[in-house]
Amino acid sequence: MTLDGKTAIVTGASSGIGAATVRALRAAGARVAAGARRTDRLDADVPLALDVTDPASCERFVSEAAERLGGLDVLVNAAGLALGRDPFWDSTEEDERIVLETNVNGLIRMTRLCLAHLRDGGHIVNIGSVAGRQAYEQGSLYVASKFAVRGFTYALREDLLGRPIRLTTVDPGLVETDFSRVRLRGDEEQAAAVYRGVEAMTPDDIAECVLFALTRPPHVNVDELVVKALAQSSGGRILRSE
Ligand code: NAP
Repeated sequence: MTLDGKTAIVTGASSGIGAATVRALRAAGARVAAGARRTDRLDADVPLALDVTDPASCERFVSEAAERLGGLDVLVNAAGLALGRDPFWDSTEEDERIVLETNVNGLIRMTRLCLAHLRDGGHIVNIGSVAGRQAYEQGSLYVASKFAVRGFTYALREDLLGRPIRLTTVDPGLVETDFSRVRLRGDEEQAAAVYRGVEAMTPDDIAECVLFALTRPPHVNVDELVVKALAQSSGGRILRSE
């Protein structure tokens, strides 16, 4: 099955899972509008600036993307981040605001704005996380944000019942991307250590899961896909070779 003739918006498309999803969707035949703050890193049919924490930026992005694509069939919410790997008592007002604004409010806002344009047969895919299913230590903000994404996804599924729009959460474990570099505030050594001694998943592995959900027959809704590296049994448990 292909996505020939379909149009899609992908957020967080300048890096990692979002960028891989843009490639996979285009390879399957879709025309894709890609959004992120670093526009120089966007490679898509319609590359546009997007800051999901900024309502005006989201409104501009969605209306221009929908117009240039000629309507919308798919939204993939991939924009997201974590800040810090610390006990909760070291959290700050600023980190809390950024993580929740990006992962929760941003995803909800983009979903609301895109729903107004989604054609019948449309599909929304949220990139959740294993962190939204089981807590792990020193990740309270990120865990809270991904639990919220999971709650929102299932509540929206209830509201969408009866409408011809599908909804999926893809919940990955360890994927090697810039995620750890961002989380560890640019500390390259610590970020590299996250992926040391373990074969993490690649962004393409996750993009294939997104594509799988999108290409099921219209009467099939993949509610959730949980994918982990073989050497990872839960958010906090990874078997390393060293
Ligand atoms: P990544 O390589 O750091 O990519 C994150 C993307 O989010 C970038 O394109 C970034 O673009 C975008 N982004 C961040 N803040 C944004 C904002 N305010 N507005 C618009 N875009 C924003 O990390 P990744 O691993 O691909 O993460 C993608 C998603 O997967 C996230 O939701 C993350 O929580 C989830 N996830 C990752 C893993 C993992 O192990 N890597 C596991 C489970 C879930 P700009 O900075 O250019 O704006």
